[in-house]
Amino acid sequence: MEILKKILESKSFKNFETFVKNNKLFHAYLILSENEFSGKMFCKAMALKLMCETNTPCFECKNCKSVLAGFNPDLLIYPQEKSTFLVGDSNSIIENVDTKPMQSRYKIFVVNNIDNATVQAENKLLKTIEDSPKNVIFLFNAVNKNKVLQTIISRTQILEIENFENLDFKKTSEYEFVFDLMKNMKSSKNVIKFSGKFAQKSVFLKNLLALQNIFEQLLFAKVGKSNEMEINLLANEFTVEAITEICALITLAQKQFDANVNTNLIADNLLIKILEVKYLWNLKK
Ligand SMILES: [Zn+2]
Repeated sequence: MEILKKILESKSFKNFETFVKNNKLFHAYLILSENEFSGKMFCKAMALKLMCETNTPCFECKNCKSVLAGFNPDLLIYPQEKSTFLVGDSNSIIENVDTKPMQSRYKIFVVNNIDNATVQAENKLLKTIEDSPKNVIFLFNAVNKNKVLQTIISRTQILEIENFENLDFKKTSEYEFVFDLMKNMKSSKNVIKFSGKFAQKSVFLKNLLALQNIFEQLLFAKVGKSNEMEINLLANEFTVEAITEICALITLAQKQFDANVNTNLIADNLLIKILEVKYLWNLKK
């Protein structure tokens, strides 16, 4: 989760954490960012912080895992059906706001791109933002503050955040190789064909990092759209749950490498598992 880690280390996130630590958590935030992706990911990081059983976030506990995988029952993300936040979304929030959280301390409503919402939908929400139960938190994100209703702005704490989109990764030859591999790896026969190259000791770690990078991008493509068409296409082949599991498998492979496990063995195992996880989750779709 390289990007999330970057967010967790950022100045604006540290600021937010200080508020949490001092019990000065606001019940509604407006996250302002230069691009949609940064705002959405920042909200996800805030949700992790608030829901984590160890308050870190740890990425390991039940709450962290379910937030990352996108199925934590106490984290509701809007707009739910269309790309624009509509009156129906406001109604859904109003209906849900009084139900107690099921497994976390908080119930969190994330509204992505509130700057694209209809005026009616925003208006409908005003009273709820004001009168919601104590453990309810609203996280709005926007790129264009001028397009958010003043009455919404005045009910939120504004957080201006850094830009997290420009990841310093380069399309190295390892990246190209691994990306092609993920695109073309359809059967275990394929895997055996490629895993020797993947496992070469001099590039193995670079291949693993490229793989990690690709799956993180796929995860973000699921949250919002990626700017890279190729990433969006590949993301269609995996469910969020599969991507989350595969990210964990890659981390495990890195640990095995650190523990001097034979790279051929790690590569074979990892690639076969990726294939398996992908198919199993696609079957459940
Ligand atoms: Zn946790």
